[in-house]
Amino acid sequence: MADDSQRKRIAESIAPLRVKPGSKVSLAHDFDPRFKAGVKKKKRGVEMLAEGVRLLSEYQSRLAAQDSWGVLVVLQAMDAAGKDGTIRHVMSGVNPQGVAVHSFKVPSATELDHDYLWRYAQKLPARGEIGIFNRSHYEEVLVVRVHPENLERQKLPEAARDGNVWKRRYREINDWERYMSDNGFRVVKLFLNLSKEEQRRRLLRRIDLPDHNWKFSTADLKERAHWDDYQDAISECLSHTSTEWAPWYVIPADRKWYARIASAAVIVNALMEIDPRFPVVDDEQRKALLDVKAQLEAEAPKGAAPDPFEEEQKLAESPAS
Ligand code: AMP
Ligand code: MG
Repeated sequence: MADDSQRKRIAESIAPLRVKPGSKVSLAHDFDPRFKAGVKKKKRGVEMLAEGVRLLSEYQSRLAAQDSWGVLVVLQAMDAAGKDGTIRHVMSGVNPQGVAVHSFKVPSATELDHDYLWRYAQKLPARGEIGIFNRSHYEEVLVVRVHPENLERQKLPEAARDGNVWKRRYREINDWERYMSDNGFRVVKLFLNLSKEEQRRRLLRRIDLPDHNWKFSTADLKERAHWDDYQDAISECLSHTSTEWAPWYVIPADRKWYARIASAAVIVNALMEIDPRFPVVDDEQRKALLDVKAQLEAEAPKGAAPDPFEEEQKLAESPAS
């Protein structure tokens, strides 16, 4: 587990990335995609990521064993910002049984037949699990807002389209996340903040490297044409949905290695705050275990140690002769 100085260092490193609840965000003015707080060299960054990955793996075992809290990690970004690579690196040390990643695409006909949060609710993590949303319910106030034809497809009754749909959705999303956090599910929200120029570079790379061609979609270019509309929709979304119970973190994403350590740090920080513990047995349960131990020891075949594990431990502890 993290010691106090590590805890403090991690908490301090992510403080500048947090969107203060109630503040009015202008993405372009308030957050620099090239920011790399204090980490001068990529090499140091790589060491820090290894440390983050190790901590994450340790906390995840505790989270699973305690089986009381769940964690939902929400990842939002423009195309080519590195969502997939971040998930791959940050989760690389974690037991796959304890993590589930869900990617959300254009909604299906069945999904459009339900309320807009329905499909996300189906994929929420269970207690003890870390769930990752690769895109999320936030698409409902981002792509759906930038391209209003998406809202048309949602078949909303007249009354649900009256007034300010987006303001209402912000409130509904905040309420939903509050409900989750009140009931033992931590919502950790990361926006990977990429610059327009770095996106241009990465899209070209996808075209220039044959092994990366499959990643390129002409849809990415169409969305890029709406860059400013997205920046506005994102700024407004961050302003209205960063809450005390589920604050947003804006992750500088122009340097992939920095985006990865910063993302790991935010997730580790959430786990440190939950501080999950391995359950300990009470006296009665302990006594029952000792009874079973005596039974198993009595079953030792001739010549075998009654408790070979205890034997090995003693050997390991005794100074080498
Ligand atoms: P990708 O993540 O690159 O595979 O692309 C998934 C696409 O689905 C993106 O263009 C998203 O904007 C789009 N998408 C995700 N959620 C929604 C939604 N609720 N409504 C419309 N489009 C969506
Ligand atoms: Mg894409």
